[in-house]
Amino acid sequence: VQTKLPAVGTTIFTVMSALAAEKNAVNLGQGFPDFNCDPQLLQAVTDAMAAGHNQYPPMPGILALREAIAAKIENLYGHRYDPQSEITITAGATQAIITAILAVVRPGDEVIVLEPCYDSYVPNIDLAGGTVVRVPLTPGSFRPDFAKISAALTPRTRAIIVNTPHNPSATVWTEAEMRQLEDLLAPTDVLVISDEVYEHMVYAGARHESAARFPGLAARSFIVSSFGKTYHVTGWKVGYLAAPAALSAEFRKVHQFNVFTVNTPMQHALARYMADPAPYLELPAFYQRKRDLFAEGLAKTRFKLLPSAGTYFQCVDISEVSALGESDFCQWLTSEIGVAAIPLSAFYGDGFDQRVVRFCFAKKDETLQAAIGRLARL
Ligand code: PMP
Ligand code: GLN
Repeated sequence: VQTKLPAVGTTIFTVMSALAAEKNAVNLGQGFPDFNCDPQLLQAVTDAMAAGHNQYPPMPGILALREAIAAKIENLYGHRYDPQSEITITAGATQAIITAILAVVRPGDEVIVLEPCYDSYVPNIDLAGGTVVRVPLTPGSFRPDFAKISAALTPRTRAIIVNTPHNPSATVWTEAEMRQLEDLLAPTDVLVISDEVYEHMVYAGARHESAARFPGLAARSFIVSSFGKTYHVTGWKVGYLAAPAALSAEFRKVHQFNVFTVNTPMQHALARYMADPAPYLELPAFYQRKRDLFAEGLAKTRFKLLPSAGTYFQCVDISEVSALGESDFCQWLTSEIGVAAIPLSAFYGDGFDQRVVRFCFAKKDETLQAAIGRLARL
């Protein structure tokens, strides 16, 4: 077969979850909770189905859910999106990201990604015929390097993909960094794809700096989020896009032909559930406790912990624990020690190995304890 994506194999998340299942390992690799969501949310789905909400919803999603999202964004970030023309319900963040890219990236357009980055971005740009421009985050700290980003901008730059809180490094952009991005892009017409799927997982009282807070960014941004992360339902694959009307109109041209709509009963359930802000407002405390529990356990090992300021990931330096490279280490850890992790090299185009791996702590306390028990042997 003449392949369109010669460099692409099976995603690391699928590979490591399969290995974890085969080896009966504690799976701290792929990012997903191992506990169920709020029973009230499950009840809302059952009620929606019983009430007959089982046919196609409107193409951009049901209005009640779009209204709830617009209200949330306005309350948290102070920017009002029009639910009719500026919010679209998507099949997870994944479909929102590829749809935004297909909608605006033309063959030959350059798209800047900040490495390490989530694994779908680069193949998405390739499928659109765009040129990937990789700009490294600062080694060690994973902070954006604005001199490097500025140097990467050309007249052909169509978009930049930004992700905060950041998968895999667990860093969170500051207000000053967002302002620097806003200022840097001000004289350009570069678009922003702002992946904010971990928006409600920011720790130690820090604040999520949504692109929606910055008028110069909001005007040029496709903001993407995911209910899978926020409400512990990654398998539902429901997310959304918020973008100015002109960008949303382009987005919907593609959306209507790559998915058309997203499942109806979940949309009704989410609309009802969103009426109460408590579940997402309480999320930072919920996950910070798990982060700290896991970090306390790891403190007894020779893993060196990197800061985890947001997301549900904890990165660790393995250099005191093993002489193996990241990828081999993750295979060995899963097979021999019984704990699955993700090598950071999977988030780099050239497989850069800095001896750091990522654990997901979105797990029951007993799962984290079981993992700590095994890791303590190292
Ligand atoms: N972006 C990032 C940074 C992610 O971590 C994920 C989930 N792994 C996604 C996008 C995709 O989200 P969803 O599951 O809603 O498609
Ligand atoms: N976002 C999740 C992670 O980073 C995995 C999603 C997926 O499996 N594609 O682990």
